[in-house]
Amino acid sequence: MNTVKIQTLHYERMAYVYVRQSTPWQVIENRESTERQYHLRERAVQLGWPASHVEVIDEDQGRSGSTAAHRTGFQRLVTEVGLGKVGIVLMLEASRLARNNSDWYRLIEICGLTSTLIGDEGAVYSPREPNDRLLLGVKGTLSEAELFTLRTRLYEGRWNKARKGNLQFPLPTGYVRSAAGDWELDPDTQVRERLACVFDSFRCHGVARSVVRDLKKQGLDLPTRITARDGYGSLIWKTPSLSAVVRILHNPAYAGAYVFGRWEYSGDHRSAKTGKAIARQLPMAKWPVRIELHHPAYLSWEEYVKNRELLRQNWSHDEATGVAREGSSLLQGIVYCGICGNKMGVQNRVLREKRSPSYICQASYHNGDTDKICQSMTSRPVDAAIAEAFLEAVSPLGVEVGFRVLEQLEHDIAAQRRQHELQLEQARYEARLAQRQYDAVDPDNRLVASELERRWNEKLERVHHLEKAFIQAEQESQWTITPEERQTIKKLSQDLPTVWRAQTTTNQERKRLLRMAIASVQLDGVSKTGEIDVQIRWRSGVLTNFTVKRTAPGDGSLKTPPEAVAKIHEMAGKYSHQEIADRLNDVGYRTAFGRQYTHQTVGYICRRDQLAADRKRNKKTERDILKPGYIC
Ligand SMILES: [Zn+2]
Repeated sequence: MNTVKIQTLHYERMAYVYVRQSTPWQVIENRESTERQYHLRERAVQLGWPASHVEVIDEDQGRSGSTAAHRTGFQRLVTEVGLGKVGIVLMLEASRLARNNSDWYRLIEICGLTSTLIGDEGAVYSPREPNDRLLLGVKGTLSEAELFTLRTRLYEGRWNKARKGNLQFPLPTGYVRSAAGDWELDPDTQVRERLACVFDSFRCHGVARSVVRDLKKQGLDLPTRITARDGYGSLIWKTPSLSAVVRILHNPAYAGAYVFGRWEYSGDHRSAKTGKAIARQLPMAKWPVRIELHHPAYLSWEEYVKNRELLRQNWSHDEATGVAREGSSLLQGIVYCGICGNKMGVQNRVLREKRSPSYICQASYHNGDTDKICQSMTSRPVDAAIAEAFLEAVSPLGVEVGFRVLEQLEHDIAAQRRQHELQLEQARYEARLAQRQYDAVDPDNRLVASELERRWNEKLERVHHLEKAFIQAEQESQWTITPEERQTIKKLSQDLPTVWRAQTTTNQERKRLLRMAIASVQLDGVSKTGEIDVQIRWRSGVLTNFTVKRTAPGDGSLKTPPEAVAKIHEMAGKYSHQEIADRLNDVGYRTAFGRQYTHQTVGYICRRDQLAADRKRNKKTERDILKPGYIC
């Protein structure tokens, strides 16, 4: 029967043998099947094809079969078949060809169109014949069903085990499995202590990067147990990396919890390179299996949750304020530029001359505009003023005032609500009126009708807009304070100044305290000479404005920005002082006071650093030299 189906036209074309094992594991373990697949080459010769006309496609070895997109061999096969170059496609059990049904049907379809035969060890099918076609279709369906049950069986078995906390997977470093299969702390003291060291360090800094730095400074490596087959379970020590530390901090196992299904491998996120599904971490609330107190822990569950939250905040620099970092500038992370509105950075670098930390707006710098700095200022006077404002606001008196403000606000809100209601009522009335006018006009009078319709729409839009604003205002005013809360706040306000000034309080803790009350601070050191406009946005939404004097000249803390000094060095001798000043001003440099450069300020730097003299020597400038110790 086979030979009847095979005709001259088929012999004139090629015979293709498609060899495939879906996983690398099958490729290694299932040698027998692979050999059987290669034997199909001989079968092609038996069926009458010359050996030179038999080609084996085995590029897809070790690729899983759920979609054809990343199986280049299968794609090549389909192309060749489509071009009518193939007489027969041979494979072990025809149904293996394509696990996924749509791929399978596509192949049968194309084979049918190009009169290509399909064969396996036992039979040859012609997809053009209805009976064969049906048979092949059924085989494909069966194969898919088989795959499905196989998968379900595997998955269900795994999940069942996981739900009981019994599913085995490689344990994180720091744990070993006992003979009974339970999780135990690693018997190696050094391993346990090193992990404890990571958690301690994070407890202290709250920043993963600082943990890495800490470990490196002390020359401490991190332990890793090998999970590969070769040397399974043996211990190696690795230089700490940020990713390793973050992985440890993120792993719920160290909090004693057995978690399964933390990662989701959904088919719609695939690597463009390998075609493998990309894992995505599920939010904690959606973890399918979470058994707390499953094994001995390195830290409490509460601390683990807190750490995760800190990591998350530190990660998103812009949205969240992040953890209060070390460094002496109080406002790091919550300070914004009053000129351009961007977040300001903190410069803690101690350069050649001892520089005090400063706030610096480098928005344009970060945007690739390397020459521009909006403004910068020493942080000390600003910090002092902010601390003062903060302590005043949280002092018992300040809190009392706050309560009164709150009462006033509640009163205001009631009045505001009434206003809103009246406004809305008016808008609704106008909308109804517009509708009546529109209804009254003769529809044939199109020009008038369309104009009236437009007006009616406008009125409706206004009603909608007001309704939205009303709802939002209502939501925003939902805050009242209970008598108990009042008591707590009063108590806290009495203790706070003491805590703030205590020697034992670190700067980092002060920053945390500050952030409980202050949402952000905006600085403008350009608009006024020698002064900085400060605006505090309190968490309550209230704004406070005041000005701070820049540090007095000569106290050593104010210096011309080094970038500007470098430019002056570059240009000295080539241009006059006035030209240099103009150029600096043009690209946005400002003096340490936030002022524009003049020939005098440039002249000062040139003399101080003994650069070439002014090209257009100006007598007046000479006399105008600022007194010694003056720093621009
Ligand atoms: Zn700026």
